[in-house]
Amino acid sequence: MDEHLPGTQARRAGELPRPVRRSGEGVSIAVVGGGFTAAAVIAALARSVSAGLTLQVFEPSGQLGKGLAYGRSNAHQLLNSRALNVGLDPTRPRDFIDWLLANDWEGAATSAGGGSLEASFVPREAFGRFVNERLLTGVAAHGDLDLRLFAEAVTAVHHRTEGFDLTLASGAHFTADIVMLATGYGSRRSAGGHCGDVYDESAYEGLPQQGSVAFLGTGLSMIDGLLTLRRQGFQGAVTAISRRGLLPRPHARTAPTRFVPDLAGVASMSAILHRLRQATRQAEAQGEVWQSIIDGLRPHIAGLWQALDGREQARFLRHLRAYWNVHRHRVPPQIGRKLEDEVRSGALRLVAGRVSRTHPLSEGGLGVIYRPRSTRLEFEERFDAVFDCRGTAPDTGGVLERQMVAEGLLRRDPHNLGFYVDATGRARDSIGAPADDLFALGPLGQGSLLEVTAIGEIVAQADRAARHIAALIAARRGRHRGIG
Ligand SMILES: Cc1cc2nc3c(=O)[nH]c(=O)nc-3n(C[C@H](O)[C@H](O)[C@H](O)COP(=O)(O)OP(=O)(O)OC[C@H]3O[C@@H](n4cnc5c(N)ncnc54)[C@H](O)[C@@H]3O)c2cc1C
Repeated sequence: MDEHLPGTQARRAGELPRPVRRSGEGVSIAVVGGGFTAAAVIAALARSVSAGLTLQVFEPSGQLGKGLAYGRSNAHQLLNSRALNVGLDPTRPRDFIDWLLANDWEGAATSAGGGSLEASFVPREAFGRFVNERLLTGVAAHGDLDLRLFAEAVTAVHHRTEGFDLTLASGAHFTADIVMLATGYGSRRSAGGHCGDVYDESAYEGLPQQGSVAFLGTGLSMIDGLLTLRRQGFQGAVTAISRRGLLPRPHARTAPTRFVPDLAGVASMSAILHRLRQATRQAEAQGEVWQSIIDGLRPHIAGLWQALDGREQARFLRHLRAYWNVHRHRVPPQIGRKLEDEVRSGALRLVAGRVSRTHPLSEGGLGVIYRPRSTRLEFEERFDAVFDCRGTAPDTGGVLERQMVAEGLLRRDPHNLGFYVDATGRARDSIGAPADDLFALGPLGQGSLLEVTAIGEIVAQADRAARHIAALIAARRGRHRGIG
């Protein structure tokens, strides 16, 4: 069982005296949300900010560091990233590998994928434990860090002359100098009435072993659901429907070299595509795989995205995003082979089409009404169960988010994928200026940065945010001493 961080035995807000804002050289930070992004930012703050820190973390589940991705219901699934490419500290690239070795995960990891530990795809459970342990040691190593976890949702954040007031669902109030939003995919809601949630184990109960199941969506969440079904012995037919019916591509068998394409000066999607095709041909001529181009591009994506104007960004989202996603967000090769077998044997049927409605049928089961791509006809099919895997987008319409937008603290990006932020995660208010005391981190910045949902990008952003805060505190100290 995971050990609790000091102060993180989650409590209701009313059980503790109301914390006061730090005075002097310390800073109090409210972290809203307790998933992986929160863990990354807490770890980054603990190692970057030497001043006194009060961290108040608000997470309704009362669990810190797991969130949607590394919670218990996914524990057996594999990470979609190689072990060497994940961690919690960008300055220690082998940290997770060392942890796996020290904790006897090597055998399990390499037998799951073959090859070296560095190149293997390990269970998410291992990563969740690593995160918990590193948080524990990081927080303990800081001489003056007070971390408290409150098992409640934040419903409002108000800017005051100095800092912020936060209101919780219970009506309790807190104050903080800095607010860091890490609400990711929002509070978990049922996917749509009668549709099941792939990450809720009870949704698989009572399914006939030879029955029929539909997944709405053909991405990574659908694959998680399909693997869970098969693991539970489900032998029936599975249909997965998405606009283009594309499955995520597999990683290369061995870790590819990162090949950085030359994209200097390109300002349109067609120019980027042209250069990428060129770079792929060059890389392949040198014996490289296409995956090396995508991996080489990763650190440059936010810059490329921001260099495109709104119209080009919208074109990308409309026409290319689905293709980009299946190449960028890949599955381990062994999962790729399983999917190939599923499709080849007919056990998994992929449908390109648009789902218009699902509804319960009087004879039992659910009807799915969809229109196959490039047709005007609608079809209806019956399934024993339907799982909706279409929505892992940030929740920009929650109570808190709407209130913050209405007060001009946050601004939705023009594609409504999240909020306006800079690469550090600083929120841009309604007139576009970045705020030094309000951050919207991780998936919340999808529309501004395009790729900020994977472990590597989240950890890098959390590190930048923590260093930024450390620099602000140092500057404030300098001013107090009359040297600023
Ligand atoms: C199933 C899955 C598998 C993944 N696997 C990989 C992988 O193998 N490799 C990789 O690089 N990336 C992976 N990712 C991507 C990445 O790790 C996630 O994007 C990341 O977990 C995002 O975490 P988060 O904390 O921002 O969001 P979430 O996990 O959604 O956590 C947000 C938390 O905020 C809380 N919250 C919401 N609203 C409020 C509120 N108003 N007040 C208080 N709390 C609130 C929620 O309860 C929730 O716990 C995966 C993602 C998923 C979903």
